[in-house]
Amino acid sequence: MPDPIATRCLRLAWEGWCAGTLPVGAVVTDAAGTVVAAERGRMFGSAPGPGRLAGCAIAHAEINTLAQLPVAGQRPDHTLHVSLEPCLMCVGAAGMAALGRLRFLGADPYAGASRHYRRTPHLDELPLRVDGPVRGPAGALGSALHLAYYLRTQPDAPAVAVHRRVMPELFDLARRIVALDARQPDASAAGLFDLVTEHPACTEHPVGQLAGAEHLAGQHAGTEHPDGRHAVTGDPAGRLGGAGDPAAGEQPAGEEAGRR
Ligand SMILES: [Zn+2]
Repeated sequence: MPDPIATRCLRLAWEGWCAGTLPVGAVVTDAAGTVVAAERGRMFGSAPGPGRLAGCAIAHAEINTLAQLPVAGQRPDHTLHVSLEPCLMCVGAAGMAALGRLRFLGADPYAGASRHYRRTPHLDELPLRVDGPVRGPAGALGSALHLAYYLRTQPDAPAVAVHRRVMPELFDLARRIVALDARQPDASAAGLFDLVTEHPACTEHPVGQLAGAEHLAGQHAGTEHPDGRHAVTGDPAGRLGGAGDPAAGEQPAGEEAGRR
């Protein structure tokens, strides 16, 4: 089973799935590992109260989680955990929120932008380091929930085509998620985690070693850039070589994205 923080992210993502929105969950922890903020994506839904974005294109889990933090001060000992590789907006938001680390579980070969974090003089003063994807059940579920959403709602979407080319092993797991009964979120969440104990996408081919990502396995796991900042581990973007980002296929996984 995933660790408790990863499980929290995945359960939030599952709540999003059951609510009919893009299933992504996010959690911020402090230096002690205590959860100080948590939320899910609400692009297609309503806000649970003030201080949350909902029903708009930027109502992402990461934004709704970071919005709960105080405005002042850097947080080099805080980590933003996300069930899925963040988009360009959200990886930028993590940097601007002055967090020390962003850890994502599942790769997103379509909109994931962990390698495209751009440094500015301001961001150079801030400490963000990006780690992900996570191998094993947590990473597989984070990615598969996202793919399942598209299979359920937009099976002809470009996102599905990209996943089919880059992460084909994920489709069976995603289809099984679609088949779970989402009318009973608590009960079916248990079914969600049961899937990972038996599914080959989570065991025989843990995420990070899926087809098209063989070069990501092993040697770069846990790599950190010498400056200790923004090292991408097990970086999934190399999977996109030839997908409109020629540089992505040329750069070794694990190299600092901020240089690009
Ligand atoms: Zn985002």
